[in-house]
Amino acid sequence: MRYLITGAAGFIGSHLCTALLAQGSEVWGIDDLSQGNMDRLEHLKDHPRFHFTKSCISKAGLLEEVIKKVDVIYHMAAVVGVKRYVEEPVRVIDVNVCFTSRLFELAWQYDKKVVFTSTSEVYGKNSDIPFRESANRVYGPSTKDRWCYAISKTAAEHLCLGYIKKGLRAVIIRYFNVYGPHADTSAYGGVATRFINQLLNNKPLTVHNDGSQTRCFTYIDDILKGTIEAGSCKDAEGNIFNLGHHRETPILELAQIILDVSGIKGEIVFQPYKEFYGTSYEDIPRRIPDLSAAEQILNYKPVITLEEGLKKTFKWYKSRM
Ligand code: UDP
Repeated sequence: MRYLITGAAGFIGSHLCTALLAQGSEVWGIDDLSQGNMDRLEHLKDHPRFHFTKSCISKAGLLEEVIKKVDVIYHMAAVVGVKRYVEEPVRVIDVNVCFTSRLFELAWQYDKKVVFTSTSEVYGKNSDIPFRESANRVYGPSTKDRWCYAISKTAAEHLCLGYIKKGLRAVIIRYFNVYGPHADTSAYGGVATRFINQLLNNKPLTVHNDGSQTRCFTYIDDILKGTIEAGSCKDAEGNIFNLGHHRETPILELAQIILDVSGIKGEIVFQPYKEFYGTSYEDIPRRIPDLSAAEQILNYKPVITLEEGLKKTFKWYKSRM
């Protein structure tokens, strides 16, 4: 099989490149490296079946040229990271909606299958837990930039579903708090690897608010299995799937588990939201997936426990220091 992965130098994109190449496929990767990082692809640089282009997906002619060559497109390029949503809402909408629209159009024109990676963020602050794929989306006001990402991914989902109606073969997957080696550890990254980075740099773990807000953290290997199946399973086409983990974990507990698995006597401090994000932020109190659709159609079953996944992740970051 021949694949295009946009956002190939991103956290999940780079893992996906490695996994698909290991299956014997040929992979074209595009990334503008605005958030992606070539370190994540270093091990593939001389791979005969890997073709990488450093470019924005909006570059005239590039997408079309590559799309013609492949069977399946994984569209992963996006502006991500909560701190970015509140700092750069214009770029979030431009990349996540406008450029994405062009990609769907080309995929439809050339009859290529698309796996569109969306996000659990689309459910917003809906309190009806767990989230089924058909659940309502509940957002705050547009004056809170935090919601621009949810809106952008929702708009892209509508575009994708619109093209599906016109005949596009596509699957939408919604990720729930993915972590693992190669995840962003900066202020723009997810909380799990941010805590690990703080710990390894002898800094206190900054738990926002009182740490009672919850997430379901999902290890990259589990996510990869679901993502690959979404690209190959015929019955998945036309559907939306949550990909995540069942276990609901408060952020304070996450910090404590990271201290436990690391064996380091680190410190936890509580930080007000405003101090980190400014005033344009609003948190999501609970986020839990209903995984029954993915279990039934994609045969998806997350098997890595949080302790196991965090241990592996911590070990990987420690080894790179
Ligand atoms: N968070 C935290 N400390 C940090 C970074 C994030 O307590 O240093 C919290 C954040 O406020 C949120 C949760 O961790 O409640 C998950 O944040 P993340 O940025 O990983 O993504 P989200 O799930 O909100 O999209």
